[in-house]
Amino acid sequence: MTDHLTTALRRLPTPRCAYLYDTTTLRTRTAQLRAATPPRTTLLYAVKANGHPDVIHTLATECDGLEVASGGELTLAIQAGARRIVFGGPAKTDTELAAATTAGALLNVESPHELRRLAALGITADICLRINRTGTPLTGSHTMTGTPTPFGIDENQLPHVLADIPEGLRVIGFHLHAVSNNLDGAAHARFLTDAIDWSTRTAHTHDIPLRIVNAGGGLGIDYLTGNPIDLTPLSTVTVPDHLELILEPGRYLTADAGWYATEVLDLKTTHGRTFAILRGGTHHFRLPAAWGYSHPFTVIPIDDWPHPYPRLTIYDTPVDAVGELCTPRDVLTRNQHVTHLRTGDLLLYPRAGAYGWDISHHDFLRHEPPTFITL
Ligand SMILES: *Cc1c(COP(=O)(O)O)cnc(C)c1O
Repeated sequence: MTDHLTTALRRLPTPRCAYLYDTTTLRTRTAQLRAATPPRTTLLYAVKANGHPDVIHTLATECDGLEVASGGELTLAIQAGARRIVFGGPAKTDTELAAATTAGALLNVESPHELRRLAALGITADICLRINRTGTPLTGSHTMTGTPTPFGIDENQLPHVLADIPEGLRVIGFHLHAVSNNLDGAAHARFLTDAIDWSTRTAHTHDIPLRIVNAGGGLGIDYLTGNPIDLTPLSTVTVPDHLELILEPGRYLTADAGWYATEVLDLKTTHGRTFAILRGGTHHFRLPAAWGYSHPFTVIPIDDWPHPYPRLTIYDTPVDAVGELCTPRDVLTRNQHVTHLRTGDLLLYPRAGAYGWDISHHDFLRHEPPTFITL
């Protein structure tokens, strides 16, 4: 794989800076997840993880459809020819609600106020309710249920909400997205089983014709080691005959399908610390700064040096890999040991395909964007 990437990178003009997305990895990842999930599971790729048109197009084909959370993502999903679309998010506008309904998307409704707005728009539809459950059976980086959040309807308020569903709207399922970056496959399987059990019980109590249990996304990626989450426990989940289990993976499908590569523009040691200064940084790849971890890289040596001035080289040194922004927070990696690094070499960051470019503050300092290469 690295050969493939290196060849593509060498073709770029210097200073080199690029995102590379590999559609074969997207397909493999989807196939692995599909093989691990029980019958009657539907996979909808969560577009917010990576909205690159080639990524969306590939996953619209490989998955059963797409999960979107804005009018912009809805437009991308329609353009990609998604067979099914689910539309969620706590702050949908009237325009978005109308556009999603026109597109035939299934809505995850997040508040009683949103129900009344739908009714006022004259929308008649089968819908799911997003619930913020009382307990949270999962651990991960962003817990969204069992705790105060803007997402969904508090489980305690559900009886009142269900007693007052406006005319024309019919609740057929629950949306229970709970966590991000869970690395424990057995815990995720327990979460899915619990989501199905809770939904079945709740539907029975309130006489709801339950068809859908949407357990959202949250399957994780170990950024430091790259060790994959063990998906085998997912096959132990039983989805009853009359139900559909929807999963909305984002990170799991795209993280490993993307690399961020950036050229070392300068090397310097100040106050005892060595910095590799990059043609790029957190305005392209914000995830390490946003989450406060150090993202490991590999060095791609570039042997040509066409310049009249000497090439800077360091040996056997820990380096901080920092970006081109004028802020000390523009750090991708802290203290990674390199055996040999020169100006003009590239640092390659794997696992950059999810929440990489898409969550970054591209216009801060107005540097050139990276090149985007789809393999
Ligand atoms: C972000 C999000 C996802 C995707 O989460 P991942 O952790 O990337 O799998 C799925 N569903 C909803 C509602 C989300 O907000």
